[in-house]
Amino acid sequence: MQRKPDKVIIIGLDAPIAPRLYRLCKEGHLPTLNRLFLEQGVWARHCLVPLPTITPSNWAAIATGAWPSTLEITDFNVHVPGDELNKAHQGLFSDDVHAETIYEAIAKVGKKSILLNYPSTWPPKVEDSIVLGGASIALNTWAQNVQLTTIHQLEDEVITWGQAGSLVTYAGPALYSTQLYPGATVIKFYQPGGWGNLSGQGKAVAAQMPLQFRGNLYQMEPVTWHILVQEGKAIVCEKNDVATAITTLAEGQWSPVITKEFRTGKGLRKAVFRMKLVELSPDTERFRLLVTSLAATEGWTHPPSLAAEIKSAEGLPGPGLSWAGHRYGWHGLNTAVEMQYFEDAFFADAAAYLLKNKPWNLFLMHAHSPDHMYHAIADALDNPDPEKRKPYEEAELAIYKSIDDMCAGICAGADDETIIAIISDHGAKPTTGHFGINRILVEGGFLSRNERREVDWSKTKAVGHGSVHIFISVKGRDPHGIVEPGEEYRRVQEEIIKWLYEYNDPESGKKPIVLALKKEDARFIGLYGNWVGDVVYAVGGDFSYQHGPQLPTAQHGIGDLRGVLALTGPNIKKGMVLERTVWIQDLVPTICYLTGWPVPAQAEGAVIYQAMAGPNLK
Ligand SMILES: [Zn+2]
Repeated sequence: MQRKPDKVIIIGLDAPIAPRLYRLCKEGHLPTLNRLFLEQGVWARHCLVPLPTITPSNWAAIATGAWPSTLEITDFNVHVPGDELNKAHQGLFSDDVHAETIYEAIAKVGKKSILLNYPSTWPPKVEDSIVLGGASIALNTWAQNVQLTTIHQLEDEVITWGQAGSLVTYAGPALYSTQLYPGATVIKFYQPGGWGNLSGQGKAVAAQMPLQFRGNLYQMEPVTWHILVQEGKAIVCEKNDVATAITTLAEGQWSPVITKEFRTGKGLRKAVFRMKLVELSPDTERFRLLVTSLAATEGWTHPPSLAAEIKSAEGLPGPGLSWAGHRYGWHGLNTAVEMQYFEDAFFADAAAYLLKNKPWNLFLMHAHSPDHMYHAIADALDNPDPEKRKPYEEAELAIYKSIDDMCAGICAGADDETIIAIISDHGAKPTTGHFGINRILVEGGFLSRNERREVDWSKTKAVGHGSVHIFISVKGRDPHGIVEPGEEYRRVQEEIIKWLYEYNDPESGKKPIVLALKKEDARFIGLYGNWVGDVVYAVGGDFSYQHGPQLPTAQHGIGDLRGVLALTGPNIKKGMVLERTVWIQDLVPTICYLTGWPVPAQAEGAVIYQAMAGPNLK
């Protein structure tokens, strides 16, 4: 009898567009993914993901094999039962996952896991496991466990999440420029009087560089560095003395990985980062210096000593997050791709080191780069003009190549007996018709607001929440409830659903809502229980942003909301495109079936028998 495999690598990609990824593999651009999953494995063409088509709930669904309602993370920002209906909590902490994960289940039989940047795995739950990051979507970023107030601006439906989002340990990316750019720090060049150790023949100018600590978790003591420009190069120094140079850069050049100490609210701490001289005109009129996130060198691994063991020549243990800078004109597409590469390169180096040097059975990771990319450039990729589209297609290919390289690095740690899987939490699509559920509820008379545009609870029957939920303000259940439970509740449910189906978008004349269900009817799409709206809705592919409220089968332009699920390894068929429908919650039960590992306690997914060469395991 053949031994069952006992090693599994799961590589998670956030928001790849499955048919585009498949085509790039098929065309030979992504040799590792093509070999593993198209030539030697099974690729599921119709992989569905739970609604909402969003990040935290679906990564937790993958790790547990359970539907989001079962694990009680039902959106990105989750309404906690009993809270005011315009408050939310980010569902990104390990304690938010109220179902057993595969790494907890297998730990009970002594199997060891390595978790790399996998959402909702921090703080670590299994003592005898290796965990890097997992407190948000990137290493060195931390979701905020605060109550967030939504629905500030109902008119244009710009839901501002207050302090929403994650914080970087020390600082997010920063730009220092002689020109004005959104969010950038303006610097001014002057004659370098008082500088130490000046040399060289050319005329020199200097500027002060007061470091910007934006989006930081730690308090940071102010620091001013100094820039000297001479002979077409910028020398970044700690003091106005060339002997304190940190790096010297020509236009277009990246620094190597730099480590520096900073005074923080928690004492002297080390940060790693890189800098790029994006622009330097000969007269220094135009100057742009980009600094990546300042990533802490420790504090994001379990065990804590592990961080110091991992070396990466090129990579950074922090967020790529380069696309906001691209949007603000800080830098071009290439720089955004390069910054994303630093993140992927670190993952590859960390994975290679851990898989080689630590005992493991399960390696589970998540890389966020496709999601960052499509939020930034999905619209440009959908441009009907091939010439205008071209640079964006090149950037997209570069991101996927970076991922392919990362996969090659990771899979070097696998042998013939290892099962390797690739999976995603949802797809993505271009931005289309404006959509705002609370605007629709205001127009329908369900939601009322006062002059300050705050919710007027005395007249509000229902509030839209997160991506797909509408909560009715129920007396006795919700803090400001006005709707009686029972008959009135059911009537309001029906009125909302009727209004949603009747509603026509004033701009396009189309109906944005393609599905609206009473909560009790939503069980058939896996939504039930206290963490789900009293009405659940979904929009079509021709409305709203890249993902979230759309059905998992939605398609629009270049976009497709379906997930990626592919497998290779012992007992997996080779070179097969699977036509049956699979769900991302099926991966973990299928792996447990193949390995004989314990199935997580609340797993609901099915075994994908049709992917196996011999499905009747004895
Ligand atoms: Zn996602």
